[in-house]
Amino acid sequence: MRVPFSYLDRQFADIDGYLDDIRKLVRSGDFTLGASVREFEARFAKLCGLPYAIGVSSGTDALILSLKILGIGPGDEVITTPNTFVATVGAIAMSGARPVFVDSNDEYTIDVSLIEEVITSKTKAILPVHWTGTPADMPAIMEIAQRHNLFVVEDAAQAIGASIDGKHVGSWGETAGFSLHPLKNLNIWGDGGVIVTRSTELYEKLKLFRNHGMASRDEIVMFAHNCRLDSLQAVVANRLMDQVHFITKQRIANAQRYDEAFADLGEYMTIPVRRSNVKQVYHLYVIQVKERDALLSYLIEKGIRAKIHYPIPLHLQKAADYLGYKPGDFPRCEEYSRTAITLPAHQHLTSEEVDYVIEHVRKFCLDKIWS
Ligand SMILES: *Cc1c(COP(=O)(O)O)cnc(C)c1O
Repeated sequence: MRVPFSYLDRQFADIDGYLDDIRKLVRSGDFTLGASVREFEARFAKLCGLPYAIGVSSGTDALILSLKILGIGPGDEVITTPNTFVATVGAIAMSGARPVFVDSNDEYTIDVSLIEEVITSKTKAILPVHWTGTPADMPAIMEIAQRHNLFVVEDAAQAIGASIDGKHVGSWGETAGFSLHPLKNLNIWGDGGVIVTRSTELYEKLKLFRNHGMASRDEIVMFAHNCRLDSLQAVVANRLMDQVHFITKQRIANAQRYDEAFADLGEYMTIPVRRSNVKQVYHLYVIQVKERDALLSYLIEKGIRAKIHYPIPLHLQKAADYLGYKPGDFPRCEEYSRTAITLPAHQHLTSEEVDYVIEHVRKFCLDKIWS
């Protein structure tokens, strides 16, 4: 059996509906912003329980535009965690600000107890990441931000559908960035992203900021970016919006099956932490085991496409040299880079495939426990 990590061939086995919609778009010539983007934005905002969504060219651009529109730039500091995809930190650097790291907690999100230690007079914002689709502790982060007069921009790229106490991720901070990349939970046919906000002022500014600062064809009110969500991709996104519920439900169900199947391996393996008031959407289903690299090789040999997210934490990447961090600075993140492994948990796995993953992960771990 082969258990793939990518499910695009299964998800898009039947594309006639998409192509019909694209034919209509091509005939209309409505290629920049237009009706498809407006429809998508309205539906996405509703999903998040917010008044506004702005379609942009990627999740990375969603974060860059968010930081810049809040006035963040050179000389400022933005706090995040190195346990993330490079885009989080790249976005801070591209705004001109300096990324400041704090370690993760045992849920793979920012450890809020460490945030206040690194706040300085230059700190302008906190940028929590809902890593794996698990919400960061937003009530605590908002409380710290209010006390220190900081902005909060959420990196919700992996977390469409996730919530805390029923309040959707992205609706806590000033703005949030989501990604529509082909490997994210809501995945279009190329790059795309979304910014959400409850602020009318930020919404009006961001609409201009992604589109040359053009109030109309002839009136330019600010110099700005060309970071629009592609109208053709919005057509694809509108069809996929119908699947968000299914995608989320299936991933949660697969994660639940893994949790139950691995529950008795506690001495050898760490499964994701659950909190009853939090909805996690398992963009990544991550476990930790001591002999991680051996487990990875074993699973690959059995045809199971497990992955490592990621073997080198961001503060130890060459790109981060100028920040002056060193090994040992963020022990939890460094531990994850050695012990964490991501199992396929996507919505197109069959029940037999989930069983097959369970069987082989258990076999590997039991062999280690008994030996
Ligand atoms: C994917 C991702 C991004 C970037 O999104 P793109 O659409 O690929 O630019 C940012 N942050 C996190 C945590 C991500 O997983």
